Amino acid sequence: MDIKNHTKLQGEFRQIAEVAGFLWQRGWAEANGGNISVNLSLLFDNTSPNDQVFSAVYEFDETYPAIAGDFFYVTGTGKRMRDVAQSPLDHGAVFRVNADGKSAAIVSEKAVKPTSELPSHLSIHNFLKAGGNERSVVLHTHPTELIALTHCPLFLDSKKLTRMIWSMIPEARVLLWKGIGIVPYALTGTTDLAISTIKQLQKHDVVLWEKHGALTVGDDIMHCFDLLDTLTKSAKIYLAARTAGFEPQGLSQKQMNELADAFGLPVDND
Ligand SMILES: [Zn+2]
Repeated sequence: MDIKNHTKLQGEFRQIAEVAGFLWQRGWAEANGGNISVNLSLLFDNTSPNDQVFSAVYEFDETYPAIAGDFFYVTGTGKRMRDVAQSPLDHGAVFRVNADGKSAAIVSEKAVKPTSELPSHLSIHNFLKAGGNERSVVLHTHPTELIALTHCPLFLDSKKLTRMIWSMIPEARVLLWKGIGIVPYALTGTTDLAISTIKQLQKHDVVLWEKHGALTVGDDIMHCFDLLDTLTKSAKIYLAARTAGFEPQGLSQKQMNELADAFGLPVDND
């Protein structure tokens, strides 16, 4: 597999670069904050698997059976999003999970060590693939306004937060129809954080990590970005109103139900 001359893969890398640039421009990716991983397996020819292994094999503590044999792009540990935006393969790598589901090797030319959040990412990809998503994307970043909301105990309740977000602008009610999951504070890179996140992803495709950031999943990195962009827009409207000294009225329940009806969405996020 010649990664550099693979047109479809290059298209994927361009999208990853574009989104990494958006994260930086939005101020969501200070220093080496945030990480991206994408399951690229559908673009690889599985008949010629490990013919280009450029790194030592990584051993994991967990086994990921659903993604055994799959190929992923993952941003590198300590790498800056603003650099990923310039050149994804110099600040991240493509690796393949081995057939045992318990180890992996880098197959792109530069052996860029994956993010320290790799176990969380792989657990989530494993969960998504087991649920039928073969093109899974996991995007984690630090949107300022969303983190601010998680410092308010009122919004650590998924239902209350979702209702507020939905009521700020019609687009949020439609795009974020699955509601927002909340993951209580947990140390970054731990199994606890991964387990709590997966629990929330059973219902939602966007979750907030208390006092840390946001994580979204999907099968299209641009869509993942759109979800976070819309969510942040709602949060900004709420905070702008509060800063101006008034409590925003928000769309009424009737207006939100009307939107759900018009777009064929469930009325509640439970
Ligand atoms: Zn983070």
